[in-house]
Amino acid sequence: MSYSVSPIGFVRSCFKEKFAIPRQPQLAPAARGVLELVAPFDQVHALEGLEQVSHVWLLFLFHQALEAEPRLRVRPPRLGGNRMVGVFATRATHRPNGIGQSVVKLDQIEPGRLYLSGIDLLDGTPVLDIKPYVPYADVVTDAHNGLAEDAPNLIAVRWTEASLQQAHCEAARLGEPLQALIEQCLAQDPRPAYQTPAPERRYGTRLWDVEVRWHYPEPSTITVLEVTRAAS
Ligand code: SAM
Repeated sequence: MSYSVSPIGFVRSCFKEKFAIPRQPQLAPAARGVLELVAPFDQVHALEGLEQVSHVWLLFLFHQALEAEPRLRVRPPRLGGNRMVGVFATRATHRPNGIGQSVVKLDQIEPGRLYLSGIDLLDGTPVLDIKPYVPYADVVTDAHNGLAEDAPNLIAVRWTEASLQQAHCEAARLGEPLQALIEQCLAQDPRPAYQTPAPERRYGTRLWDVEVRWHYPEPSTITVLEVTRAAS
């Protein structure tokens, strides 16, 4: 038996590549995006009442990770990328039906558009549904998760003088908190845990229309080397 679903909208996100997207929402509050709703959900009636809500659950498709053959066991990056566990014990992107869920902050509402922050979604992500976060039901005070008990350890993020200046210029042009976004994302240490980064190795990703390049002068420190406008 199969069912079909169709997106109610698509996210225009600061994250243009998968690499360096935080592994869960809320870890980078400066990560912003807009959910653009499609007809008929772009009509004001569909959003009535949502102005009373601070956070929403988004149910979405991992559209850049869909696979024909379902995996039963996965290697979550959170466990170092080497240990296999059952797919249902994880939030891995490769999963049956490719459905993701994230609680994100709802900053502003316009007809047909929701302005969001704290997102962990790639640009173009198809959204299947929006539900209000309901604190009395969704906060589970005695919950535990032995595989992911605490938020990941953060590492130090430093800047060269030139890269910080570049970040300020690009932030002013974009009207976005770019320095905070870069620091919050890189502090999560996006490199795969099994990789020991040589100081000469350069890493990079694209945030908004900006290329960010960094290296690890030592394993637990990142230095941002370049923040440049991407060639269009
Ligand atoms: N909070 C969601 C959940 O629990 O279902 C997502 C968790 S998943 C581990 C987060 C990762 O999904 C991000 O780091 C990013 O690399 C990846 N991702 C985000 N949007 C995606 C998309 N549309 N397609 C494929 N991968 C995506």
